[in-house]
Formats: sequence, C-alpha cells, structure tokens
Amino acid sequence: MEKKITVLPGDGIGPEVVASAVRVLQAIGKRYNHKFHLSYAVIGGTAIDEFNNPLPDETIAICKESDAILLGAVGGPKWDNNPPELRPEKGLLKIRKTFDLFANLRPVKAFPSLLGASPLKREVAENVDLMIVRELTGGIYFGEKHRTDNEASDLNIYTRKEIERIVDNAFEMARLRKGRLCSVDKANVLETSRLWRQVVEEKKEQYPDVKVEHNLVDSVAMKLITNPEHFDVVVTDNMFGDILSDEASVITGSLGVLPSASIRGDHFGLYEPIHGSAPDIAGQGKANPAATILSVAMMLRYSFGLKEEATEIERAVSAVFNDGYFTADLAKDGSRSLSTNEWTDRVIIEIDTNF
Ligand code: ATP
Ligand code: MG
Repeated sequence: MEKKITVLPGDGIGPEVVASAVRVLQAIGKRYNHKFHLSYAVIGGTAIDEFNNPLPDETIAICKESDAILLGAVGGPKWDNNPPELRPEKGLLKIRKTFDLFANLRPVKAFPSLLGASPLKREVAENVDLMIVRELTGGIYFGEKHRTDNEASDLNIYTRKEIERIVDNAFEMARLRKGRLCSVDKANVLETSRLWRQVVEEKKEQYPDVKVEHNLVDSVAMKLITNPEHFDVVVTDNMFGDILSDEASVITGSLGVLPSASIRGDHFGLYEPIHGSAPDIAGQGKANPAATILSVAMMLRYSFGLKEEATEIERAVSAVFNDGYFTADLAKDGSRSLSTNEWTDRVIIEIDTNF
C-alpha cells in the first residue's frame, strides 16, 4: 500500500514525539511492505513565527493532497499573550473546521504496567477498554450566544444530519470493536437529546449486529468510575463528550499515553496525542512519545484499514512497558528512565524482532 501523510510537528515537544512516531511508522512500513510518503508543514506557534498565521494556506494545501495528518502539539508561553486570531490553538480549531472533522475519537485502554497511577482500584481499572466518540463541530459551542449584565444564553442546536453522521460513525466504530454502543444524552430535559435518541433508534435498524443502549449523561459519569468495563463505544454530543472524554482519560492513570483522532467518515483524519506541547520539558529528549506512536496506530487502523499493523504497534508499546522501560514521566522511583529516542528504539526493536 502507498499513502501520503502530512506531518505537522507543531510546538514544544511536538517535533520530538512526532519524530519518534515517524520512525515507528517507517519500521512498520518496512516490515509490511508499505510506502508512506511524508510531507512536512507548519502549524501553531511555529507557523505564527514564520507566516504570522497559525494555519497558513500552504499547510492547508499540503494536507489536502494527503490521506491523513499526523500532528504533534501546539502552543506555549511564547504566544500566550498574542491576540486571539494569533494563538496557536486557533490553528487546530481551523484545521478541524477546514476539513470538517466532526468526530473526535478517544480510545482509553488500560496498560497493566501503568495502573499504579490510576485513581481506581486495579481490579476495576485493568479491564477498561472503551472509546468515546464525541461530536465536534455542532451543539452549544457553536449556537448563537447572548449576554447582558442580567441574563445570558447559549443556544444548543443539532440538525438531524449532524446527529446522523456522528451516530453512523459510532455504529461503524462499535462494529470494529466489541459491538456495543452506549448513546449518552439528557433526554429527560433536553429536546436536542430527544432528537438524538430518536435518530439512534432509527439508525440501529441498519446495524443489527450492534447492541445499543441509551444512558443519561449523569448516570454515565458515575458508571465510568464504578463500572468502566461496562463500556465499549460511547457516543455523545459536543459538550457531554468534552466532559466525559476528560473523565475517561484519567481512569487508567495513563493520561500521557493516550492517542486521539478527529475524522469525518471518508477515512481522512487527523491523529494526535491528547497531551499538550509540554513546554517545560521541550527540547530535552524527555518527552514520552507513546501517545503519538499510538496515534499512528489509530491512523493505520481507521484511515488506511491496516488492522494488523495497528495492532502490532499497540502490542509493541505494551510489551515495552511490560518489560519495564519508561520515559521519565512514568519511571518509578529509583528505576532508570530512557530518553525519547531510547524508548522509541525499544519499540522498534520489539517490532523488528516479533516474527
Ligand atoms: P494543553 O493546554 O495544550 O492541553 P496542558 O498545558 O494542559 O496542555 P500539557 O502540555 O499536556 O498540559 O502538559 C502538562 C504536564 O504534563 C507538563 O508538566 C508536561 O511536562 C507533562 N507532559 C505532557 N505530555 C507529556 C509527554 N508526552 N511526556 C512527558 N511529559 C508530558
Ligand atoms: Mg498548555
């Protein structure tokens, strides 16, 4: 297979973790005989410095030519006092909007060797393997806003079309996973939620192999803590998804190793770690590249349909943790930590020697 990937290293530790992920991608390409053609472009603070624009047209043009985008991270103190349109984060919002990436996927899976940092009991956390599918381009974030000194409102609007496309996406995702879908809403008080529920009910006829349930967001917030293994795919709107995906991401104690994807339904997508640009450790070879490496695995699975290759990356990452190799952020007291590059070497050795 031949694919074109746009690489947007971004700011802070972005370039370091992306370089690691690219090395792993090339190792997988070599082993399975795929050609991945990479084009590099700028985004965020680096793009502001060079083009006075957090997402230059040149970058958009390069992304349009490619099959998927790999992103590091954007932002840092250098740009914190910039006017709103010249903030690095604007680049990220704009790229999602430009490419209509309406579905945000956040898988959360426990790594047994990292459970020490989980706020949950080991017996509860070790079985976590779920994915939050969050609608990203509609809802209360984008509805009409109004405020005076005495009253304020935010309009929450969802069209049937917007709900249908995210729900379709989530059903497809459930099919690729364990075949269970939990749709989350607040249908006891919100009209948007009632339409959401109705659409899920209609759609489920098309996916008889997926087991569907409806759940209220307050109940899901509790269940994620008390019984997280109950969940496979969780689909919800923009605001509930924002809150639940942050909640879900901390339950395995491995916040720093979680990947994410923003996709639209035609296999094109943007893949990035959920962590930020970590300016405090940038340029020191200390960054943990696992989340970005796992983002590459997501790209292979969802954008290119390369399931075996994706699983191999995930297996290798897990094996390296199991063997007791960690970067400084995860190294236990007294144990030696590896640099970003040394840890990446372990992953590549794991891939190269597993036949
Ligand atoms: P953002 O606002 O961009 O979402 P943030 O400011 O909330 O991000 P991060 O930039 O993710 O947070 O950093 C939070 C802390 O976690 C920092 O101390 C940083 O050093 C650490 N950190 C984040 N990502 C990594 C990583 N990949 N490896 C090691 N440490 C990390
Ligand atoms: Mg930050």
